[in-house]
Amino acid sequence: MKINFKQTPEKEIHRLVEELGERPYRARQIIDWIYGKLAVSIDDMTDLSKDFRRRLKERAFISNPDVLKIRESGDGTVKFLFGLEDGEAIESVLIPNGRGKFTLCISSQAGCALGCVFCMTGRQGLRRNLRAYEIIDQVIAAKRHLRSLSPDAAPSIANIVFMGMGEPLKNFDEVVSALRTLTDLMGFSRRKITVSTAGIIPRIAELAERAPRVNLAVSLNATTESTRNRLMPVNRKYPLKELLAACREFPLPPNRRITFEYVLLDKINDSAEDAARLVRLLKGIRSKVNLIPFNPPGETAAERFPEPARPDEARILEFRRILHRAKIVATVRRSRGADISAACGQLRADRR
Ligand code: SF4
Repeated sequence: MKINFKQTPEKEIHRLVEELGERPYRARQIIDWIYGKLAVSIDDMTDLSKDFRRRLKERAFISNPDVLKIRESGDGTVKFLFGLEDGEAIESVLIPNGRGKFTLCISSQAGCALGCVFCMTGRQGLRRNLRAYEIIDQVIAAKRHLRSLSPDAAPSIANIVFMGMGEPLKNFDEVVSALRTLTDLMGFSRRKITVSTAGIIPRIAELAERAPRVNLAVSLNATTESTRNRLMPVNRKYPLKELLAACREFPLPPNRRITFEYVLLDKINDSAEDAARLVRLLKGIRSKVNLIPFNPPGETAAERFPEPARPDEARILEFRRILHRAKIVATVRRSRGADISAACGQLRADRR
């Protein structure tokens, strides 16, 4: 059976080149074609001899993402809808940071089993885990898109965040494999990659071991066990208190912080008492807080939770003020791409 280069570790590519009787530097050329020059097929690799390409094609191929739709928001956010080989669909979102740089938010699963009540992906349930190459293909598609906008001076992807569809730590091995490809073969700095979790506690320490020095983000969203139980069913298995203990143990490199994401839901988790409790909970953790005012998905999870709504601006600013007063770095994330359902919590890979 042929191997998919994008699912193949570097040392296997070297082994294949050796088996085919070629010089070792050929492996580097192949890698550069796939991840640097974004080759679509082995035939693109024009500095390899025709004969070598023919022999390579007998043993390997390059998968290509099937981009079903690209939608652009008025604010410059771009949402990609991908079709997978088995008919599943996923999304990723490219968000402009200014000055020709973008953050790419990628998916790690089709759907998600965790069922957070404020999240459209969670309402789909889990369809399946993504393979590493399906994660990498999202990055390749985004790079190709940016290159198509400006072939000579393409804008670049400055940050990659695993905050799209799915819980990355529930697809641990494939995510770790994709992280290796991103850092070792695509040249992304570990400090520019963030893996976000809803709190799969046993995997947090393991992430630090298997993918050292990538950033950790934790989707927190509540300051009491009871509220978190209601918002995020995963809390019943991995309670808030134990989650924060795991965060305290996380080996943070110097000058780094754990990002805590906090979706603000009107009169559910956005009171001054919540803000004060959050200050106490984060004591002793080098942290920053991303406050994300809820993005209504157009329908509510009314059967699970009555009418989650977006707090008004005064409540949002008061919450942030309490964090700032306690010297906690906190920003209000003005979600981009809400007009194309690309904002946080809105991804559902709708093919319409
Ligand atoms: S917020 Fe994340 S973990 Fe929760 S249901 Fe949505 S995708 Fe899954």
